[in-house]
Amino acid sequence: MEITFHGAVRTVTGSQHLLSINGYRLLLDCGLYQGKREESYTRNRNLPFPADEIDALVLSHAHIDHSGNIPNLVKSGFSGDIICTFATRDLCAAMLRDSGYIQERDVEYVNKKRARKGEPPMEPIYTQEDAMDSLHYFMAIGYERPYQIAPGIRVTFYDAGHMLGSAIVALDIEENGVQRRLVFSGDLGRPNTPILRDPVRIDAADILLIESTYGNRTHDDFPNAKEKLRQVIQNAYDVGGVVVVPSFAVGRTQTLVYLLNQLIAEGRLPPVPVFVDSPLAINATSVFQLHPEAYDDETRTFLREDTVRDPFGFESLRYTPTVEQSKELNALDGPMVIISASGMAEAGRIQHHLAHRIENPANTVLIVGWQAPDTLGRRLVERMPEVKIFGDWFKLRARVEVINGFSAHADRDELVEWASHITSKPARTFVVHGEMESSLAFKDALEKDLGFAEVTVPELHETFAL
Ligand SMILES: [Zn+2]
Ligand SMILES: [Zn+2]
Repeated sequence: MEITFHGAVRTVTGSQHLLSINGYRLLLDCGLYQGKREESYTRNRNLPFPADEIDALVLSHAHIDHSGNIPNLVKSGFSGDIICTFATRDLCAAMLRDSGYIQERDVEYVNKKRARKGEPPMEPIYTQEDAMDSLHYFMAIGYERPYQIAPGIRVTFYDAGHMLGSAIVALDIEENGVQRRLVFSGDLGRPNTPILRDPVRIDAADILLIESTYGNRTHDDFPNAKEKLRQVIQNAYDVGGVVVVPSFAVGRTQTLVYLLNQLIAEGRLPPVPVFVDSPLAINATSVFQLHPEAYDDETRTFLREDTVRDPFGFESLRYTPTVEQSKELNALDGPMVIISASGMAEAGRIQHHLAHRIENPANTVLIVGWQAPDTLGRRLVERMPEVKIFGDWFKLRARVEVINGFSAHADRDELVEWASHITSKPARTFVVHGEMESSLAFKDALEKDLGFAEVTVPELHETFAL
């Protein structure tokens, strides 16, 4: 067996790991690399292997850094099965098309500039059409339902508790009469988050691939985050302010809606009007409604005991799919909450809401996710006195509140705790999906805290014989 790491090593994006087992070529994830525009374009467009030589793809979850290059893989000649959970398949139907739309718009913008310089136009990495075509190759299997991919390779998905449909991938492999288990953690969630089940503990692995996004940091507790959310909304409510929340369309938005629903139902918040203003978030929410099999006990009880109420819908909540509905929000006064994408405020409808609301000191910008350097979201976190939106400068007079406890990734201690349940210690461990410092710190933790041997932080395109 051989493994080559083609992405998400010493960085967090572009997850792609290629396995060769009994001459069969199996790809784990086919994510988009997300970095500087030009580098990303070149890396994503040119796959590091011949696509038609890949026999099958196993997909851990629907996030674009894991699934986002699938349409390009199919366009480039891949014709095998794409194996994932049911919810991942359904989320990909919405998310890959959205990503195709973004690729088309990105290239349109670049081509305008190129035309002015007399340069030939560029092609998008893939289009919405390519994204829709790639859906033909998906096939879904349930959690903990072992499935034979090829002779000597069986896959089982375990709930990773990171996003709807997210999976830990276990491959039971028989090669030359030797049985081994390779476990790929995918992205691991946190215990006790709403809606999703806790990450399933795995007790045996011969070879382990483990993520390390927060391999050197710890998060705030979830209950603290919920209480902080209540306070921020209540404070804004008391002064009639508008709370504007840049939020990732899939996952974070549904968590916020669910918590606001709970807080209002429990009488801990007044029934403040809440608007979800993102077409992708609205599509993703309908996918959440289709997959109660992936919910935790609390959410299932909610559904069982209250047949009238919907976890993602309540009296004062409105979804605003159309552009007209979105624009109408500008005319409304607070108190109210507007949840919109993108999560780092770099694109999408959120920019209009920020432009319209941040100059009023009664309003609040609520940041609920990590903000990358050089994004509008990061400038708001840093409380720049003025920020540029659509080429104009706006004075930042609104309050800015940050809640860090909503992370969908296990922190250092939670990762170590999860790995500690692997009682038959892996002979080989690869630390992936983390910035360099984080992955190296986590390698140390696995060696010192858990006594794991042979822990490696691979380099890009590095191959290991196993
Ligand atoms: Zn993820
Ligand atoms: Zn990821």
